[in-house]
Amino acid sequence: MFKISNLTAYIESKKILDDFSLEVNDGEIHAIMGKNGIGKSTLCKIILNDPHYEIKAGHITYNNESILGKPTYEIAKAGIMLVNQNPISIEGVTNMEVLRTALREKNEENINIFKFNKEMEEACQKLELDPKFIHKDINVGASGGERKKIELLHIAILKPSFLILDEIDSGLDVDALKVVSNFINEYHKQTGCSILIITHHKQLLDYIKPNYVHILSGGKITKTGDYHLAEEIESLGFRSNIIDEDEKSE
Ligand code: ADP
Ligand code: MG
Repeated sequence: MFKISNLTAYIESKKILDDFSLEVNDGEIHAIMGKNGIGKSTLCKIILNDPHYEIKAGHITYNNESILGKPTYEIAKAGIMLVNQNPISIEGVTNMEVLRTALREKNEENINIFKFNKEMEEACQKLELDPKFIHKDINVGASGGERKKIELLHIAILKPSFLILDEIDSGLDVDALKVVSNFINEYHKQTGCSILIITHHKQLLDYIKPNYVHILSGGKITKTGDYHLAEEIESLGFRSNIIDEDEKSE
């Protein structure tokens, strides 16, 4: 189980998360929605221990072990993987090299190269991603949509147990959105992983059905519902019935 308790976090003396709590049980899919700039990406980065943020209070645990303050590679090794809103490109390191190294580190054993290559090619096929990217530097020369698919290729190989998808739908056309959603649904079914989805759009949640939808506002979750809450937001907007702590305190 993944659990955040009473987390308060700042960036440059600005409070972004305020007594934030969230529990995701094994196998569950949770979605977080919220206005631009409310702190969704901040939350994702804090989970992976981005050093830019200052944690003033709270706990984060995964499978009953504290991960707060741990080096990012250890958090990744524990099975948590973030697909960033804007995956960066890294020159000089190919996807093949990074995945082989990460897999060796994770499984602490030598890799069967034949199986490894086959898995990568199969994942590219499922993702409708040109397999040339396997041997290219990470995300170099890749479009927004291809970058998201390359991140999913990493998921297919490294097999995390907890996925955090920060606006995976941004930069995807309608066909790519379907391909990506099908891939995630299949991965969820096969592995029983837990998923935290950050999105602005109900459309993604039409494809990947969450167990819970949460609204982030004023640094904490102000409302939790099921899929219908996403429908409500799509038609009425965030202001409809969601208490905005920022505006209330102004
Ligand atoms: P969201 O993903 O919900 O759109 P973010 O988490 O990216 O929002 O940002 C939340 C707030 O934190 C915004 O006001 C943003 O300007 C600020 N912020 C995020 N990262 C940084 C940073 N590295 N330096 C300064 N401010 C930041
Ligand atoms: Mg964001």
